[in-house]
Amino acid sequence: SDRGIYNFAAGPATLPESVLLKAQSELYNYRGSGMSIMEMSHRGKEFDAVIKKAESDLRSLLSISDDFAVLFLQGGATTQFSAVPLNLCMPEDSADYIVTGSWSVRALKEAQKFCKPNVIWSGKSEKYTRICSFDEIPQTLGAKYLHICGNETVQGVEFKDFPNPMNKSSILVADMSSNFCSKPVDISKFGVIYAGAQKNVGPSGVTIVIIRRDLLGHAQPITPVTLDYRAHADTDSLYNTPPCFAIYICSLVFECLLHQGGLEAMAKKNEKKAGKSELEKKFIEEAAKEGMVQLKGHLSVGGVRASIYNAMPLAGVEKLVAFMKDFQARHP
Ligand code: PMP
Repeated sequence: SDRGIYNFAAGPATLPESVLLKAQSELYNYRGSGMSIMEMSHRGKEFDAVIKKAESDLRSLLSISDDFAVLFLQGGATTQFSAVPLNLCMPEDSADYIVTGSWSVRALKEAQKFCKPNVIWSGKSEKYTRICSFDEIPQTLGAKYLHICGNETVQGVEFKDFPNPMNKSSILVADMSSNFCSKPVDISKFGVIYAGAQKNVGPSGVTIVIIRRDLLGHAQPITPVTLDYRAHADTDSLYNTPPCFAIYICSLVFECLLHQGGLEAMAKKNEKKAGKSELEKKFIEEAAKEGMVQLKGHLSVGGVRASIYNAMPLAGVEKLVAFMKDFQARHP
């Protein structure tokens, strides 16, 4: 990068340089249209091509079959904490929640407003330092779905495999905000996957929802239309004005990920990066002087956190590791 720093922020997070430069070159006059993407109708032919390509490239990246709808929504993952129970449950229905950290706590609190969630496992007593094994957990008979947070961004615990919800009426729902598109995932195991874009795939302002089509159309009558998945699926995410510019940036990121070899290739690169990030010390100030910024851990846990989303180059991590070694030598 010639921007002089490596940005390890947890989100909004670093984006691929090639994406930023392409967006810059197309910003003022998008492909000869005389307008920027921000200034044109979301129902015009240019934007129609953008959102269609975003969807088809994402389908290629994650091998998403036609049994699933792909939605580009607003409101962040936090809005999905409410949309999920509103769309999948009636108020008297139960749903199972596995609570592995701060974000699943928030999801649970929202669900309590719209259905009857049960916490079937919580890592609270162990300060959210581990993920449960699914075999040990009894699921509630009749629960409409099982909700998990795929990766707890604050505590740093990630599900490495996924359960098959045991009873037939139950479906698996995952918040994948911080591990979306970091590796291949078998979409067919899920009923709903949702993710804010601002970590691995774009800017804040767009939230991606992947939902099995047979789950559409069962929302609670009180559901605001902007949270009703069917309204968005029936209109290809154009029920109301979508976050056009954010979707455009996502489409450039998806294209870039495909060019890099897709999610298998990203997973390999990310594993290599994660393997290098074991040494963590109090060195934030000195690191910043060396051009490595936003390494401070989340307020609630402190420490050091280096986010290594797709767009962080290996060189950034190598520089960080070299600095850590040097820091250690100077602070025996
Ligand atoms: N879930 C997870 C796992 C997250 O990391 C975040 C954001 N850091 C959220 C939900 C909330 O997302 P948003 O700010 O887009 O509502």
